Amino acid sequence: MECKKCKSPSIYHQKHSGKHFCKECFINDITKKVRKTLGRNIIKNNVKIGIGLSGGKDSLVMAHLLSEFFKPIPNAKLIGLMVDEGIDGFRTDGINNAIDFCNEYDIEYKVVHFKDYIETDLDTIVKLAKEKNLTMNPCSFCGVIRRKILNKIAIIEKCDYLAIGHNLDDISQAVMMNYIEGNIKKLAVLGKDSKNSKFVKRIKPLEKIPEDEVLLFADFLKLKYHKAPCPYSSLSYRSEISEITDQLEENHPGAKYSIVKGFERLLEYLNVPEEVGVCKICGDASSRDICKVCTYLKELEILEKSKF
Ligand SMILES: [Zn+2]
Ligand SMILES: [Zn+2]
Repeated sequence: MECKKCKSPSIYHQKHSGKHFCKECFINDITKKVRKTLGRNIIKNNVKIGIGLSGGKDSLVMAHLLSEFFKPIPNAKLIGLMVDEGIDGFRTDGINNAIDFCNEYDIEYKVVHFKDYIETDLDTIVKLAKEKNLTMNPCSFCGVIRRKILNKIAIIEKCDYLAIGHNLDDISQAVMMNYIEGNIKKLAVLGKDSKNSKFVKRIKPLEKIPEDEVLLFADFLKLKYHKAPCPYSSLSYRSEISEITDQLEENHPGAKYSIVKGFERLLEYLNVPEEVGVCKICGDASSRDICKVCTYLKELEILEKSKF
């Protein structure tokens, strides 16, 4: 088979489109798609973007592309933001990969730790939750607190946007999870931009790129990314859902795109009012009296240690 564009030998067959790509045309295609996702409203002068960096393939591919797009733009600024949750034997490797990347690409960066904000790390929390017989999924806790911390440093760093490395798979999984749980409010929040000034606007440059293509792109570019999966991820509901969406995609190429497209169509009919309240404890924007992070910390009886 040959590349549909330049007739060189094909190295990748994109099942959902039927197209064949050579390495160069594949790289160009992904780059073009991501540039289109961001658009001229984001890729412009005087913009500062905080990039959430885990050191994994998604975050480094995203950072590579952002650095390409912003290279020719004066006064635009990128800053890598890393959150160390404190997962023994896992996170330090990822952060080291991210630091090496930033040094190589000449991107400024900042590392913050769970410990800086809650005086403890994720491993300790998981143990504590077990001791207290709390049915708390490590990923749920980790996710909300990481999000809160990233948002905090993005505010401190005066970022206009916070870039998150979620790919098409992540988003289709999130949509499916919320459907299955009947969580319409969370669905709406997933798709709509928060206008609350306490949230730095989040962008997802890779939202239209399937995970296997992100992986291929990272390997073609020889990016040195952190490969080990998080030791807690197999415990998650999400990993179950990802098996289902992978199977769907296998049998019906394009299924992941269509899950997200259907969701975007549905969004037009969802009219969920903007969250206006604030958390009674930490003062951050929240739809309930007490935000999710504070609720978790309260259940764990470590709320008094919170610096939020
Ligand atoms: Zn080609
Ligand atoms: Zn709170």
